[in-house]
Order: sequence, then C-alpha cells, then structure tokens
Amino acid sequence: MALMVKKFGGSSVANAERVFNVARIITEDYKKGNDVVVVVSAQGDTTDDLIAKAKEINPLSPSKREMDMLLSAGEQISISLLAMAIEKLGFPVVSLLGWQAGFITDTKHSLARIKKVNVERLKNELDKHNIIIVAGFQGINKYDDITTLGRGGSDTSAVALAATLKADVCQIYTDVDGVYTADPRKVTGTKKMDEITYDEMLELATLGAQVLNNRSVEMAKKYNVELEVLSSLENKPGTIVKEKVKMEKMLIKGVACDKDIILVSIVGLKDTPGVAFKVFNELGKKNVNIDIILQSVGRDGTKDITFTAPVNQKDEVLEALENIRPLLNFDKVVVNDKIGKVSIVGAGMETHPGVASKMFEALSDAGINIHMISTSEIKISVLIDEEYCNKAVQYVHDAFID
Ligand code: ADP
Ligand code: ASP
Ligand code: MG
Repeated sequence: MALMVKKFGGSSVANAERVFNVARIITEDYKKGNDVVVVVSAQGDTTDDLIAKAKEINPLSPSKREMDMLLSAGEQISISLLAMAIEKLGFPVVSLLGWQAGFITDTKHSLARIKKVNVERLKNELDKHNIIIVAGFQGINKYDDITTLGRGGSDTSAVALAATLKADVCQIYTDVDGVYTADPRKVTGTKKMDEITYDEMLELATLGAQVLNNRSVEMAKKYNVELEVLSSLENKPGTIVKEKVKMEKMLIKGVACDKDIILVSIVGLKDTPGVAFKVFNELGKKNVNIDIILQSVGRDGTKDITFTAPVNQKDEVLEALENIRPLLNFDKVVVNDKIGKVSIVGAGMETHPGVASKMFEALSDAGINIHMISTSEIKISVLIDEEYCNKAVQYVHDAFID
C-alpha cells in the first residue's frame, strides 16, 4: 500500500467526461488499497475566463487580494465536481479548499509562497479512508486571506503535499504524455524523455516550458520528491524528474521559449559607481525577477542599463524605477513587450565548446536577429523579436535534436 499524490491539470478535468475519466484513474489506485490525495486545477480555461471577468470590472488595477479571491473560485468548482464523480462511482471522498487542507502561505497575493502545510485534517481524512481532493494553486495567509500561488501553481501544491505527507508517489497528470525536448504542440520532431534531472527541468520550466511550474520543480529538488509527468488520457509511463539520471548521449535536453517577458531600458544613467546597485536594489525590494542584464559602455558620462523581467511584473518595474528617478535623474525608461527569449538547456554543455555557435548558426540560417545573449553552465538564452520565437525554436531544435 502506498500514499499517492496525484495532480490533474485544467485540461484533464475540462468537462464532465474528463472529470469521470480522472475519477476512474483515482479510484483504480484506491481500489488497490492505496491512500490517494489529489490536487486539481480549475477546469479548462476557467482561470483565464475569470481574469477576463475582472477586466470587465476594472481593466487596469483590481487589487491583488480580490483577484486571489476570484481566481481561487475556479478550483472550488473543479474539486467539488470531481468529488461528486467519485461519489457517483461509489467511493468515499472529501473535497477541501486550500485553507481546509492546511496550506499556509506568505502574504504576497497572486504569487504567494507556501510556508507550510498543516496536515492534521488530511491525516484525519486518510484515517477515515477517504479519497481527498484538494484545490490546487491556493492557500491562506496570516491575516486569514485567500492567496494564490501564481499561474500554474497547482503543480507546487501537489509537490508541497507530497513532501509534507512523505508520499511514495507524486504524479503530475496533464494533456501530454511527458516532458519533451520542446513543446510538442508547437515544434515538430520533438522527443519524449524517460528521465530528466531536477536542475535541467528547473531551467526548462523557468525558461518557458510550462509543462511544470518552476517553483514546483525547485521544491521537488529541495525535498527530494521524485515526480512523474504523465498523460491523463493515455495509460502509459511518463517522464521521471529526479536528482540523477542515466548518462545520455543527448547533450541538449530541450529548447524552451518565453514570450511573457519585457525588455526594459533605463536610458541616460550617470556613469558613476553605485548606479546599478541602486537600480537593482529597488527592483529587488519589489521582488522583480530580473533575468538578462546588459550595461552599455559609458559615453559622455552616461550609460544605459537594459534588463528583462516577467511581463506580469511590469507595474512593479515601473513603480520601482519611478521611485529612484529623483535619485538617479536618468533620461527615460523604454519598455519593449514584443520580445521573446529562446533557450537551450543541458547539463554539461560548458565542457562542449561549439554549442553556442551551433545555436547562433541555426538562428542565422533562420534569418533571425539576436538582441541579447546570456549563458550559464546549463543554458544559453537569446532575446529576439517575439514574432520569430516559434520559427527560432524549430530551427534550434532541428540543429540539436535529431
Ligand atoms: P496543465 O493544465 O495540465 O497544468 P499545462 O498547459 O500547464 O497543463 O502544461 C502542459 C502543456 O505544456 C502541454 O500541453 C504543452 O503544450 C506544454 N509544453 C511546453 N513545453 C513542453 C515540453 N518541453 N514538454 C511537454 N509539454 C510542454
Ligand atoms: N488554475 C491555475 C492557472 O490556470 C493554476 C494551475 O492551473 O495550476 O494558472
Ligand atoms: Mg500547468
């Protein structure tokens, strides 16, 4: 008998037929004598639809607290419907919202972090041999307000449960049958991986492969929770995400693309010590996730600093820069939101010279201009015009994965 945590994404529970499909997957494992704790996301496009509803009321600035209140409703619908389906199949079940399941988060609305999971209620329900269906993506903060964990956050809810309950299995069911070398819906010739390391998966997820949320991978690595990414529609093994994998021939594990970023340039900064510190210190206070940074060579006593940030943190970026404008007295801020980032990921690429030039050659063959480049021991990223992202990913994928 095992304790299994299973997470089902929005498309896996998109309609009544799919809800029953998931109910059957769950009850099959329960019938074998396993304890089953399930995390579900909102059905289909519910979260996007709720965001659209909020925009009808206040297109610019609904408070993040109220957004969390609204978006958390999506998962309330899916957990209750799934619990009803399991009841109908004749099994004991209880659905729980994030707070009922003990998810305590920090106070950062819309991007909260899980601080702990109080598992008493869950343990009680397991003692009663109930199947438990938990609303993903949500928790409660110290002021008893509902919080959400950021888009795709249900993956993190599942990993947190698996870590806290010391589950034997943590399965992330979705609409593809594993992790591929690139998004199989957008790129041709992709290959499914049997295994991938936490570090490589973390990079791929952070660089735009939405199949797993990056925070969930970070947490899985920290608590050594082995994950399986698999299909809810086909019964076959998926991809295992773990610390160490068999040596593979493949140097490049995947190509990812992120269009949800902005490129911000601060023009006309003084070319003196401490300027970069003041800029990034202020951005840090707003928790902005800065990625690629470029500082121009100083000329006429001034310099420009350019960096990328997530598009959904644009407000924070502009606020931060407005705060330090009196101090730094720069000319202007230019924001480009028609930018995309294409990255290749693979542990060990640093010991293989020629990887970067091969990537640049592929982009050159595609006739795509590179605006900025950033490298680390496990990835190379380039910034290009957003409109060329799909083409770039295909060319780069073809160059590395045969
Ligand atoms: P869920 O609703 O189950 O959480 P998501 O839409 O968040 O599902 O993630 C699954 C999607 O991730 C797939 O449909 C696929 O289009 C996309 N995806 C992006 N990159 C990859 C990749 N490298 N491997 C597999 N899927 C990927
Ligand atoms: N429903 C949320 C979203 O669409 C959380 C999730 O799917 O994991 O982002
Ligand atoms: Mg997801």
